[in-house]
Amino acid sequence: MTWSFLIGRIAGTELRIHATFFLLIAWIAASAYVEGGTAAALASVGFVAALFACVVAHEFGHILMARRFGIRTPDITLLPIGGLARMDHLPERPAQEVAVALAGPAVNVAIWAAIMLGLGPEDPLARAAALQDPAGGFWARLAGVNLFLALFNLVPAFPMDGGRVLRALLATGLGRVRATRLAARIGQAIAFLFGIAGLMGGGPVLILIAVFVFLAAGAESADVEMRALAQDRRARDAMIRDFRTLAPDHALSVAADAVIRTTQHEFPVVAADGTLAGFLTREALIEALAGRTAPARVREAMAAPIPTLAPGAPLLEVIGALQATRAPAVGIVEGGRLCGYVTVENLGEMVMLSARPTPD
Ligand SMILES: [Zn+2]
Repeated sequence: MTWSFLIGRIAGTELRIHATFFLLIAWIAASAYVEGGTAAALASVGFVAALFACVVAHEFGHILMARRFGIRTPDITLLPIGGLARMDHLPERPAQEVAVALAGPAVNVAIWAAIMLGLGPEDPLARAAALQDPAGGFWARLAGVNLFLALFNLVPAFPMDGGRVLRALLATGLGRVRATRLAARIGQAIAFLFGIAGLMGGGPVLILIAVFVFLAAGAESADVEMRALAQDRRARDAMIRDFRTLAPDHALSVAADAVIRTTQHEFPVVAADGTLAGFLTREALIEALAGRTAPARVREAMAAPIPTLAPGAPLLEVIGALQATRAPAVGIVEGGRLCGYVTVENLGEMVMLSARPTPD
């Protein structure tokens, strides 16, 4: 994820913080300072740091459970709305997905229970009063927040944890693709309610979560659909065959001309011997032309290296290469020569064109 910073590594997983997380801490510190001065600001930041540790522990609940099923997690990113663990693949079997989804909230329940045991029996009314007091009741507040995290994540709004459980339950009857589509629709409907609640006084974080859940539900549903469609297909079934190419030594003006005269958004850059040297995207060209020291040649503005596969390679492998490298395209090469390429856009078109009601 762009705009995130590596802060360390735990059990083989990179821990990253998104830039917006610092904004959240700055906002919390500033509002506490305005209300109660430096001491209040420090106490608030300390509480956020403890909360942050609990969110990381929640994510490691998912990660360690996923590892039991052979799923690796290259990194987790902390956003103001929680953690996001990137897994190299998702559990396919419903029972495994339920176990991985529940492991996160289970960690928060465990933290809540441990703190409650540590605090000992206490008048619940006194504890409720401590929750309202920003200066005191650190542990009571932390326990309360952990219980909230566990319950909130169990809301069945896919792709939140509760939504993943719902998808897994639906998948046992409907199959994975239809279950995901239905879970994503339910997730988006709940996100819509979150958004309304946020606008009616629930606060900006709830609105952020609503937007995130809405977009992520749509994106993951589309991804599952694309993968299901790609299951039995080859690279050649999806590749673009009619295209214009550029040469590495072409002037950028030639590339600009090609952008205007064709509908292509990206151009394979092919060397004299027919091998693929790179890809020049419309965005990279515009950026290069706008720069103060504009490069003169295509080779200086193109993206390289570009992953390549054979026409007979499974389409799932092409999708994997596109997602892992974030390259503008995957080149399809036969006998050393470029015969086609696949982009995220043309995979999307493939999904849309084959989208038809599934027969019952
Ligand atoms: Zn979770």
